[in-house]
Amino acid sequence: MKYENLVDAFKNEPTYRLKQAQKAIFVQLIENWDEATTFSKPLRQLLKKDFPLAINAEISHSENGQTQKALLTLDDGSRIESVLMRHQKRNTVCISTQVGCPLGCKFCATGKMGFTRNLTDWEIILQALLFGRNLKEEGAKITNLVLMGMGEPFLNYDSTISAINLLHTQMGLGARRFSISTAGIPEGIRKLAEQPLEINLALSLHAPNDELRSKLMPINDRYSLTEVIAAVNDYLAKTRRKVMFEYLMIDGVNDQPEHAQQLIRIARGKLVNINLIPYNPTGPFKPSSKTQLVKFRNLLEKAGLSVTQRFEFGQKINAACGQLAIDKSN
Ligand code: SAH
Ligand code: SF4
Repeated sequence: MKYENLVDAFKNEPTYRLKQAQKAIFVQLIENWDEATTFSKPLRQLLKKDFPLAINAEISHSENGQTQKALLTLDDGSRIESVLMRHQKRNTVCISTQVGCPLGCKFCATGKMGFTRNLTDWEIILQALLFGRNLKEEGAKITNLVLMGMGEPFLNYDSTISAINLLHTQMGLGARRFSISTAGIPEGIRKLAEQPLEINLALSLHAPNDELRSKLMPINDRYSLTEVIAAVNDYLAKTRRKVMFEYLMIDGVNDQPEHAQQLIRIARGKLVNINLIPYNPTGPFKPSSKTQLVKFRNLLEKAGLSVTQRFEFGQKINAACGQLAIDKSN
């Protein structure tokens, strides 16, 4: 189903009816059209058939209650995962844009699944609605939304932007509350810079030279670091908004002093923030030790770079970054 199907279902109704439906879906967060009591019974029946609101999802919770992972089954049986992370006053939802991912990064569990298909805008929205509905029960709301789940958002650009636009206008979530993470698709980076909505951009850098990056991320053979960084420079010139460089810390692979020096050469003088991500083991690699992480971070900071470190959420329920993959045996 696409969002367009909802608009179609209202094509014979006065325009205020569609507005009422949008409010019911995105603000009241209804789960069933029977709750839309302003609508006539026949209209509700029709909507139940043409645009059902039920979401088929199983939710697992982390031990400390900070993280919830949802496994959604879509109309065609495809399965995707989304995560809710709760930290202080923030309720951040991490959502998927594709079923699997075609880019096959060596460190990523989603990459190992291969690619099935792109999600529609409605399927991207559903993931936010699911957590929105659950949070509403305790009087809470989604505060941030990151497109960092399964898949590469810029290989599904139109549906991703359509979903963000709808969530922004209908749910009232500020544009700066959205972040898109890309493995580095220059065309997508440049297109995002042209968007009227001020959405945040994150780049999965993970390696500071082409040789290593190509080993970890096959997409680097198609778009080299120089090409990706040129697109980031264009984005920065156009938007003057800070870009986040995500950098996984993998033991003995990309965490050595020479890597820090190369990363400094790439990032120095740019409006970027380096986000060091502790590697969540999913395959052949090991995470860098704490000492190594601190050493690496100090080198970057001494060179004047802005550095942050990602919190670790939900490792035990496989809801952490790069751990999203559907276990086909289930
Ligand atoms: N395809 C996009 C967005 C989804 S991946 C991208 O690659 O940017 C979301 C983030 O999780 C990326 O920064 C990705 O590199 C990171 N990630 C992947 N595998 C990981 C792992 N095993 N541990 C920690 N982070 C991982
Ligand atoms: Fe795809 Fe991102 Fe995973 Fe790479 S890190 S395989 S681009 S989801």
